Amino acid sequence: MENRIYIFDTTLRDGEQSPGCSMNIEEKLRLARQLQLLCVDVIEAGFPIASVGDFEAVKLISEKIKKCTIAALARTVKLDIDRAWEAIQGAVKSRIHLFLATSDLHLKYKLKKSREQVLQDAVWAVKYAKSLCQEVEFSCEDASRTDIDYLCTVVEATIDAGASIVNLPDTVGYAIPDEYGAMFRMVRERVPNINKAILSSHCHNDLGLAVANSIAAIQNGVRQVECTLNGIGERAGNASLEEIAMAIKTRHEKLGFKTNIDTEEIYKSSKLLSSLTGMMVQRNKAIVGANAFAHEAGIHQDGVLKSPITYEIMTPQSVGIKHTMLVLGKHSGRHALKQRYAELGYKLSDDELQHAYKLFCEIADQKKEVFDEDLEAILETGTSETEEVYHLLNIQIVSGTNLRPTATIELQQGDQTIVDSATGDGPVDASYKAIERITGVVGKLTEYSIKSVSLGHDAIGEVFVRVEFDGVQYNGRAASTDILAGSARAYLEALNRALASKKRKEGQQKK
Ligand SMILES: [Zn+2]
Repeated sequence: MENRIYIFDTTLRDGEQSPGCSMNIEEKLRLARQLQLLCVDVIEAGFPIASVGDFEAVKLISEKIKKCTIAALARTVKLDIDRAWEAIQGAVKSRIHLFLATSDLHLKYKLKKSREQVLQDAVWAVKYAKSLCQEVEFSCEDASRTDIDYLCTVVEATIDAGASIVNLPDTVGYAIPDEYGAMFRMVRERVPNINKAILSSHCHNDLGLAVANSIAAIQNGVRQVECTLNGIGERAGNASLEEIAMAIKTRHEKLGFKTNIDTEEIYKSSKLLSSLTGMMVQRNKAIVGANAFAHEAGIHQDGVLKSPITYEIMTPQSVGIKHTMLVLGKHSGRHALKQRYAELGYKLSDDELQHAYKLFCEIADQKKEVFDEDLEAILETGTSETEEVYHLLNIQIVSGTNLRPTATIELQQGDQTIVDSATGDGPVDASYKAIERITGVVGKLTEYSIKSVSLGHDAIGEVFVRVEFDGVQYNGRAASTDILAGSARAYLEALNRALASKKRKEGQQKK
């Protein structure tokens, strides 16, 4: 049996549909491009029938991403399958991913269908999907709680109908490794045509066992693992891609498997996802957490310095973490900045460099040393993709323990400069109210967080906001050593996005 494990990334589908992880179409494409650099085998780009936005994103990703298979999710009904196919038919490699619950629990309470009906639906849907798309994957939702005899019947019938990948998910995160592995072993022993399909796992982390269950699955014949960056996903999330990839790589001698993942792209991928969604990973998260490679205890530090293998089972470099601390200061030029970005793996266009340099100078003015983390944060601030209708020129806050905070904001709109002031419950609130007075656009702040991205009292704070304009949520983020200026800039980014999408919509209506 082949020892290669196929990585099926569902960050953009299972991950994106979880609370706090939504992305707009440009953000999804950016993440898909990074997944391509990471060399995942399959990108599940979305659930096209779910919304127009989802459909458009899957379609765009199918057109732009050439190296990975693009999968679209569909229920076992014609409308879903047609919509999924419409979205992915432009892809170089495409796959329709069908799912239908097979556990008695789901049949009785959710589908209200008999086992025979479900079996018929599944077979019909696989045949229909196969008549459109070369590659069809079938998922038995809630497989880990499905009667094993019935599960084997469904697997055999769907393979006969044309499914070349069969996924048996632990949808509710209930299985333990031994049991989940045994399910695959039994299916392989009992389903006569099982060699015509690749078996796939899909694990949820409700009991913190998603990665362990996935490993147990591959030890029992699974060759495709479904997972997400940073382990995002429904409820407690999915199996984490980076943990699976590094477990397979680090324990190659014991497990004997390999993936196609370029592990040096892991850290960048994780950071990109965090900055796009505002959902940060905890400091002690395996592989990509801030502390994952930090040896604090003196005895450990001493050991690592003498020989890294004393306490380090993998190197930070192997997942793409570069440990150069001091890099640039206020006297560094544009060229040095471009060079440093190139070393970090970012190719900047002239526009992007121009934008980054402007922010870099502001930051370098305020702190002595600019770290790699700072440079990455800069890159995440106001990309050139969104047209900047309003630009922050100045912000001044008067605040105190017994004083109602007042913010004075100066914005640039075209060649116009507009100044106004407002009071608020806090300095951030006051500045947002001042922006509202100037722009006349009312937004509702639904999420606000600040994270320090580098070390020391002059560290850069990365502000992330989610603001609702006309019922639609927009993300904004900004990095600054001044958290109030950062907060204003992040809010303006969300506002500029809202204005840009309004303009785009109006343009479409005119056509
Ligand atoms: Zn799932």
